[in-house]
Amino acid sequence: MAEEEKCEDCGKILKDKSHSPYCPQCDEKLDKQFDTIEDNITIFKELLDSEIEVLRRFEEEDIEDLFKRVYKKLAKEEGGLKQESILALNKLKKSFKLDEAKLGLDKLPETKDVKRSRPKDQCPQCSKKIKEDFNLCPYCGYKLNDDFISGA
Ligand SMILES: [Zn+2]
Ligand SMILES: [Zn+2]
Repeated sequence: MAEEEKCEDCGKILKDKSHSPYCPQCDEKLDKQFDTIEDNITIFKELLDSEIEVLRRFEEEDIEDLFKRVYKKLAKEEGGLKQESILALNKLKKSFKLDEAKLGLDKLPETKDVKRSRPKDQCPQCSKKIKEDFNLCPYCGYKLNDDFISGA
């Protein structure tokens, strides 16, 4: 007897044997979250850690497509890729070990190269004013000093 398959999100028993590990309701909910995250990146140039956790539930291909779409959209903006765009794209790239070359994209500037061109007394992530010698941003926890090893 085959074991009943349950939705990975809510635990409801899946009636139809679709390829999805989620029930239709959760599937829809996840799709909406995915769209919201895509908007957040393209409009606000923001990618939160909690959003990365949501994205981890998607297939690798979905993430690669997302990366390609947001990369191209952000690169089309006047003046090319903005610093915030590069930071958000790099975050997505590093979280999912994406490879621009494999995806047919130009190489992204490194986050640390971007940081160097920013004012030293401003957090590159939340843009709040900070002291130059801070290792971590006191407002958003952003790692300001690459050599700094946090307790984790
Ligand atoms: Zn469900
Ligand atoms: Zn900050």
